[in-house]
Amino acid sequence: MIISGKELAKEIKEHIARKVASYKVEYGREPHLSVILVGDDPSSHQYVRSKGRYAGEVGFTHEEIILPESITETELIAKVEELNNNPGVDGILVQLPLPKHIRKHRVIEAIDPGKDVDGFQSKNVDALWHKLPGTRACTPKGILKLLDKANVEIAGKHAVVIGRSNIVGFPVAKLLLDRNATVTIAHRHTRDLAEITRQADILVVAIGQPRLITGDMVKDGVAVIDVGITRDVESGKYFGDVDFETVSPKASVITPVPGGVGPMTIACLMENTLDAYVKHMES
Ligand code: NAD
Repeated sequence: MIISGKELAKEIKEHIARKVASYKVEYGREPHLSVILVGDDPSSHQYVRSKGRYAGEVGFTHEEIILPESITETELIAKVEELNNNPGVDGILVQLPLPKHIRKHRVIEAIDPGKDVDGFQSKNVDALWHKLPGTRACTPKGILKLLDKANVEIAGKHAVVIGRSNIVGFPVAKLLLDRNATVTIAHRHTRDLAEITRQADILVVAIGQPRLITGDMVKDGVAVIDVGITRDVESGKYFGDVDFETVSPKASVITPVPGGVGPMTIACLMENTLDAYVKHMES
């Protein structure tokens, strides 16, 4: 069974659009999302455009703030602070990666935690680790929604997460742990990856190595979430970290690439923006 992130994201989009229409009457304005993009990396431009398109479709107002690669860290932080202080802005997102001369953590730390719709600011990360209310990072949140949509039982199951980035692997492992899975985190230094992946009832792969996980590395009935997405320069095709052809016949459920986790990340970003707006309006 293929779990379509596209379909679930569409359902979420319709739900958010209905909420926006009624909140607009109640609060007198739509939610507003500001996206900052530094430099001219084509993939980042594409991500920002899809976020803007989705925001428009759910009825948010949004702006893309495109800044030159040469901007200094201080100038970028000043821009973030300006948005923090703007009462018309509900959500702020700084598109990653940033140029090497800018310290990413300094910029993310500058975002008002209440407007940090990516859930990367340390107050929100802290809230995740302490099981407190806060904004949860979009991709991990989307992964849990995909598993729930496919009725995958999580409690008591062995979940193997490959990759331990702060954006995906690490937080998704924590969310699965909080749902009472037994979690193993594998990474670049893991010695026998196949031995570990073969134990997985739920396998989440977030490494950025196209088709690294093959059919012989999984057991029958595994639920597979493929987060990785790599574009092949020659063919222009996108590949996941999982070899779909050999893994899908063994999997009970699997996400496709593209059309799996990607659309859910954007859907959860919009959900986080709506939540930030409601809190903002009610404060
Ligand atoms: P990252 O580079 O920050 O982290 C990669 C992780 O994979 C590291 O922890 C590393 O130890 C591990 N790793 C690398 N090679 C490995 C190997 N051979 N065996 C075991 N572990 C290995 O990456 P990230 O930001 O977590 O992203 C991972 C992938 O997910 C990328 O392809 C990225 O494009 C994709 N991604 C997709 C979405 C989405 O919405 N679809 C969102 C975020 C990231």
